[in-house]
Amino acid sequence: MTRPSGRHFLQIPGPSNVPDTVLRAISMPTIDHRGPEFQELFLHVLEGMAKIFGTRNQVVIYPATGTGAWEAALVNTLSPGDEILCYETGHFSSLWKSMAERWGLKPTTIPGDWRTGADPEKIRAALENDSEHRFKAVCVVHNETSTGVTSRIPEIRRAIDETGHPALFMVDTISSLGSVDYRHDEWRVDVTVSGSQKGLMLPPGLSFTAVSDKALEAHERSTLPKSVWNWSEMLAAGRDGRTPYTPNTNILFGLKESLRILDEEGLENVFARHRRFGKATRTAVDTWGLEVLCTNENEHSPVLTAVVMPDGQDADELRAIILDKFNMSLGAGLSKLAGKVFRIGHLGDLSDLTLAGTLAGVQMGLQLAGVKVDPSGLEAALDVLRDK
Ligand code: PLP
Repeated sequence: MTRPSGRHFLQIPGPSNVPDTVLRAISMPTIDHRGPEFQELFLHVLEGMAKIFGTRNQVVIYPATGTGAWEAALVNTLSPGDEILCYETGHFSSLWKSMAERWGLKPTTIPGDWRTGADPEKIRAALENDSEHRFKAVCVVHNETSTGVTSRIPEIRRAIDETGHPALFMVDTISSLGSVDYRHDEWRVDVTVSGSQKGLMLPPGLSFTAVSDKALEAHERSTLPKSVWNWSEMLAAGRDGRTPYTPNTNILFGLKESLRILDEEGLENVFARHRRFGKATRTAVDTWGLEVLCTNENEHSPVLTAVVMPDGQDADELRAIILDKFNMSLGAGLSKLAGKVFRIGHLGDLSDLTLAGTLAGVQMGLQLAGVKVDPSGLEAALDVLRDK
């Protein structure tokens, strides 16, 4: 195999491409995490992350991937045997539910079709049926990365409120934070979890939790064992710009730079750019004559698009061709979608031309794989990108 020239196109829906300035920031010499320089850095990134979450409360930063923050959300607020309500939006919501079971919690799942988001009306009905308030939490994935569907969190909040049910509202924003509009305080979410390797344009290795006052009260009562994830210790140390154990200092250097980049572009502009990328990608897919997995016009993800392969054609073979011929990685179909869909990531540090190149690579790959497509798909996407 000869060396492919140019940069690899990492167009999976996270980890996303890491900007050069962030890579350079990460490459700085590691500093003493108990010294004053670290203290200043940590206080700075805690404040920056609170802004990104849209919260006035102090956030928690873990040296772990998103899965760690999932676990933290459960063990910090719940007690053995607690019942929770989980909405099945796809692979990741199912994993979160399985984790809850392993912790001795009792999840009830609202089944979903993996093509639409969490339905506020179904959540309302489930809570209305729970007059004894057995559900202690409602867990929803904001952007379901396995399907390319973004659930409508404010509408779900409204539905919960209208039932008067006291359950905590927990939301996974691992693949949406920093790319899709999100407001922890305004939408009165109790626990929001996120990760570094998607909208924040960092390597994997940090996760984040925003916590409401109500979640902090639940934390006081919760009896599930907690050690590494313990909010009390994380928050007490964080107030002073410290961590209870060794942080991953260099990724925090990168976080400072990625927060600067997001601030420079302006979050509203970042969100608009992602919406435009989603629209351009869906336009290409529709024009090719293929099907976008998400079927609800109001729930298309600005972060990724999952594309359904025509019957009898294997999405993984297509991805292998594209990797081999064009040095581009696309996301695989996960669990029951394996081989049936491929996912185009359009998040993070991405320009119009990078997306144009991505869609050109997908179109050429489809043609090489023998999938019948209308070649004006790429041109149709360029029309969207041109029309700023
Ligand atoms: N939730 C969502 C929506 C995800 O996309 C992912 C990973 O892609 C996870 C949870 C798991 O997070 P991690 O792989 O960072 O542990």
